[in-house]
Amino acid sequence: MKIAIIGGGISGLSTAFYIKQSKPDVKITLFEKESSLGGKMMTKNIEGFLFEEGSNGFLSNKPDTLELVKQSGSEELLLRSSDEARVRYIYKDALHQLPESAGAFLKTPLLSFFGKLRVAAEVFIRAKKDDSDETLQSFGYRRVGREMTDAFLDPMVAGIFASAPDKISVNAAFPAVVKLEKEYGGLFKGMIKKKKKDAGPGGVLMSFKGGVSAFIDSLAKSIDIEIKTDTPVKSLKKSKDKYLLNTQDETSEFDMVILSTPAFQSAKILNGIDAKLSEMLDDIEYSPISVVGLGYNELSHKLDGFGLLATSSAKKDVLGVLWDSSIFTDRAPKGKKALRVMIGGQRSPELALKSEEELKEIAIKGVNETMGIEELPSFVYVKRWKKGIPNYRVGHLEKMDKLFSKLKEHKGLYLSSNAYFGVGLNDCISNSRKVASEAIRSIS
Ligand SMILES: Cc1cc2nc3c(=O)[nH]c(=O)nc-3n(C[C@H](O)[C@H](O)[C@H](O)COP(=O)(O)OP(=O)(O)OC[C@H]3O[C@@H](n4cnc5c(N)ncnc54)[C@H](O)[C@@H]3O)c2cc1C
Repeated sequence: MKIAIIGGGISGLSTAFYIKQSKPDVKITLFEKESSLGGKMMTKNIEGFLFEEGSNGFLSNKPDTLELVKQSGSEELLLRSSDEARVRYIYKDALHQLPESAGAFLKTPLLSFFGKLRVAAEVFIRAKKDDSDETLQSFGYRRVGREMTDAFLDPMVAGIFASAPDKISVNAAFPAVVKLEKEYGGLFKGMIKKKKKDAGPGGVLMSFKGGVSAFIDSLAKSIDIEIKTDTPVKSLKKSKDKYLLNTQDETSEFDMVILSTPAFQSAKILNGIDAKLSEMLDDIEYSPISVVGLGYNELSHKLDGFGLLATSSAKKDVLGVLWDSSIFTDRAPKGKKALRVMIGGQRSPELALKSEEELKEIAIKGVNETMGIEELPSFVYVKRWKKGIPNYRVGHLEKMDKLFSKLKEHKGLYLSSNAYFGVGLNDCISNSRKVASEAIRSIS
């Protein structure tokens, strides 16, 4: 049995890992377009500053990433975020601490008295009767009111998905929140009952010593597969019950192919096999986002927290600023400090695609306006993602039902990436494991 996996991000690698774990004898070849593995998990070391181009970690309240870390023998790389960096800020008209208790919520200037009253009234709002999808904004306005949605949900969705509340499906992006309404009749009712049921510690943000690339390298080393980097896959063709995979230089034959590429790349690769499937894949939208890493040899700001997210109403050019060297101590050399500034997303896609020089200026202006930083950085690193994070639009899950039933027409063909059922690392790994077990079942 010969299997091809296309794409060497976390989805491709973890799919390979789980197949090999159950079926050590199958031969897997993984094709990666770039010169190194990792995709959106990529660390750049600039003079000892570790800048993450994409994800910087995962939450420990879901088991998926932690399990994979342990199973792949990468446990010694685990790095827990600093307890001092738990405090988060929201920039609205000024920087305000994110309230984390009922008392702090009552005092926060982020909402007016009536805004807070409206949130409290959530317990009286009837649950939606049907399962129809809606935007996060419509869900938020309905349940907790306009002020809470604009001050809290809007920056949160920009921070997690680089999206905007009126452009993202609540069913696809926040299934756990939708479940609270559906099962318990409301968010507060659900949270109280759930807290009683599964009392336990909340999640802690975890990462890896040396950055996320250290884990990617360790994971790749733990899997006995052939890895071909610098090898973009151009197309796939079917020949009876085999797949012919074309790269620039060669055509090779496989019994099974798993595409762990972004949906728009999978669309191109599959176009020759199934034009309709390709069209459905191409229909999945991506948000552009740019990440600007700022390294300071000297910075007077204490950076005593996790970072900030800006609301749309603040009308700033930055979505948020992560205080990286406070979150994970090894992100800057001793005595120095590192920040990462997020720009663009669905809120202002045109900004994400500015030139590197312009993005650098936006970032420097952004930390000045939101944090009062006047010193200039000693090092700057810019990463532009033209298509950074999939943006699950309203109706996404319905579209996925159709897409995956169409995929079933092609025996031996699988899709595993962040484009379908969750973008967080925990989601990607959980989905990869599901795809791996489906693939294994088909060959057992
Ligand atoms: C700025 C940013 C910040 C993020 N922060 C977090 C975070 O803090 N926590 C978190 O949980 N998640 C975060 N995410 C999301 C998370 O990083 C991604 O969802 C996840 O890494 C995606 O993994 P993937 O393997 O599905 O896709 P990708 O990482 O996109 O991997 C796809 C791979 O396919 C390769 N490829 C593409 N075309 C071809 C081809 N034709 N042939 C061969 N190879 C090809 C690509 O080069 C790439 O390596 C962030 C994402 C971004 C962009």
